Amino acid sequence: MPNKCKHVTNLGGNTYECHREEYQNGRCVFHMGDLRQVMGKLKDALRAELRDDKGDEIDLRQLTLQSISDVFEDAITNKKVVFDGSAFNVRVDFKGTKFLKGCSFADCDFGHGATWERCEFGNELSLTHRHSGGPLKLVNCTYKSGVRIKSGTSNSPFYFLGRDFKGDFDCSDTTIHAITIKNSTFRDLVTFEGSTISQLFELNDVTFKAGLDLRANGFPKTSYFRGVTFLGKASFSKDAFLKIPLTFENCTLHGLELSDLPILDRTVDTKFDDCEWPHNYRKPWGDRQNHWSRNIIADEREKKRDKHILRLYRWLHNYYYNKSEFKLASSFYVSFMVMKRRLEKRNPGAWLIDMFYSITSRYGESVWRPLLALVFLWLAVPGLLLTVGASLSDGQGYWSNMLLNLQFSTLARFGKYAPPPDSVSGTILFFESILNGLLLVFLGLGIRRTFAPKRPLTERD
Ligand SMILES: [Zn+2]
Repeated sequence: MPNKCKHVTNLGGNTYECHREEYQNGRCVFHMGDLRQVMGKLKDALRAELRDDKGDEIDLRQLTLQSISDVFEDAITNKKVVFDGSAFNVRVDFKGTKFLKGCSFADCDFGHGATWERCEFGNELSLTHRHSGGPLKLVNCTYKSGVRIKSGTSNSPFYFLGRDFKGDFDCSDTTIHAITIKNSTFRDLVTFEGSTISQLFELNDVTFKAGLDLRANGFPKTSYFRGVTFLGKASFSKDAFLKIPLTFENCTLHGLELSDLPILDRTVDTKFDDCEWPHNYRKPWGDRQNHWSRNIIADEREKKRDKHILRLYRWLHNYYYNKSEFKLASSFYVSFMVMKRRLEKRNPGAWLIDMFYSITSRYGESVWRPLLALVFLWLAVPGLLLTVGASLSDGQGYWSNMLLNLQFSTLARFGKYAPPPDSVSGTILFFESILNGLLLVFLGLGIRRTFAPKRPLTERD
């Protein structure tokens, strides 16, 4: 019966007894002091531990390790691997390792940085390290149960380059020098609450399915949001966020609940280039997830949010107007007017005319819509008259009916041009002339709006 190693690790107020077999002088090969002499033996022992089914943890606490990258390459282990308190004298590369029960790098010192490539983390990945002398790169890894980051004195950047993140991505209450996240999908909450990011915050092709909490205490001047899809709530801290210029490029914002995004109060530049906004987005089935396009004001909270959206549309109209992007400005003007209709209490008549104005003219933004509606009306009504047997010209065909209808329903409907006192055609022509009148006014307003100098929306609009 071989003796046990007598080493006891003291770490963070806890003691850990070693359960490995003695190698020399009452110590196992992992606790020989200077490990450079026994690296070969240590690697063999580690390989065996990764494979066997003794215990549920590999204890690599508080060691000073040389290169162990080759041991972990493409290894699959059913034990939690704990590197807490250890220091790596060389750059570490984990390639294709499957940490099925997770791994922990709490309080580690990566002297020359570290890379994890194609790794799988079956349980939480804890990267609450103490220091790193180089970048920490995680490339194309799979995260099954969350990531926890805390960087100590490190000035090294984090790179998360792909791909599938399950579980919370917790980057709260820490100081981060720089972080770049690319080609990734986060299924659960990502939080930077209470953190300070000092140099760089970069998101590129990232989807946040559950939400992003950016209520950081400090936010760097250099921040990029490129190709970011927001599908959940996003919270931004006012203080840190208001003072830096921001650019959103090719972002999809239709899932974003903007009530906490203080862009309206921002005094510094915010740029939105080729972003997809919720106002022109419609889900094919219902709008359960698209809380922007809901018609009914269910409660006060929703009303408050809708008022915020009204402000946002006004802001966006003016933003694009000032950038001379009039097409976009126009679309936000329409969204603004629609939202206004939803929020303001109006009598049914005014509401109906507003609705008609919205559909047939986009609130004066379109000349084509009222024109097409008029042509449609002039072509459809004679057909309708003929169908119900109320001909305007006895025994004549569609086209002569159309010409008479055009004459009766628009300008010349009095005196000798009055329509026949036939009750059916009289009623139809009465309503047609009201619609005609409205559409002609809308057409006039549209033409006026096209040529008249435009202006930004004010608080009174
Ligand atoms: Zn030991």
